[in-house]
Amino acid sequence: MNKEMNKFCPQCGKLESKSQPLVKGLCRSCFLKNNPILEGYKELKVVICPSCSSYLHQNKWHPKFSANDEINLKKIISKVLPEKLKLQQGARINSVSAVIENSENKNEKNIGIQLTLSGTIYNINSTEKYPLEIIRERSICNLCKKKSSSYYEAKIQLRPKNEKVLRLVKDYLSRENKTLITKEEEKEFGYDLYLTNKKDISKIISEVKKNFSIDVKISRTLYGRKGGEDVFRTTALLRLKE
Ligand SMILES: [Zn+2]
Ligand SMILES: [Zn+2]
Repeated sequence: MNKEMNKFCPQCGKLESKSQPLVKGLCRSCFLKNNPILEGYKELKVVICPSCSSYLHQNKWHPKFSANDEINLKKIISKVLPEKLKLQQGARINSVSAVIENSENKNEKNIGIQLTLSGTIYNINSTEKYPLEIIRERSICNLCKKKSSSYYEAKIQLRPKNEKVLRLVKDYLSRENKTLITKEEEKEFGYDLYLTNKKDISKIISEVKKNFSIDVKISRTLYGRKGGEDVFRTTALLRLKE
């Protein structure tokens, strides 16, 4: 027997065996430590339509996976992320999954995730976890743009820009499920929401007032006649007090 023939891992000293041959001169675990699947990544951005929750992938809009925002977001991340990851030579990804860390801040632009990558590198299985930050961009999808055209009965103007007030109004509307937001505009000084129905305006205002201190201005503009009667559009300006 020639003992010198036994190769070992120079990093941890582990001897090579038939079932565990050295990989590029190292044992498996040292090799994986030195050769993570993930080498780097491009901007981790997901683009989601705030109106229908569909998402942009390879320049096309795709329908949402789930009506549950968090499940939807997780699935979108798994779908969109792989193409943004740069892999080490010899590596392949089998699956990508994400745990969302700040899920209670649903409207947050930056989302902290724990990303789990499983794949192989030189045919060795590897699972890696990374804490990453994803940017969520909100953009109205083509379908929603078309649907909304120019129809609205009421407009809510939120001033100044405040994501919490915006979220409150949108949550309220999606709970009530009667009035739809046909268009959402992000302005320099706030948000404009276009609604299919003006009946909910006063309820929305009282809902916001429960949580925020605001000044309200209501105005009406005539925009046509229906069944011999004047039809008005309502604009509600909600301004947060300093
Ligand atoms: Zn080793
Ligand atoms: Zn949409």
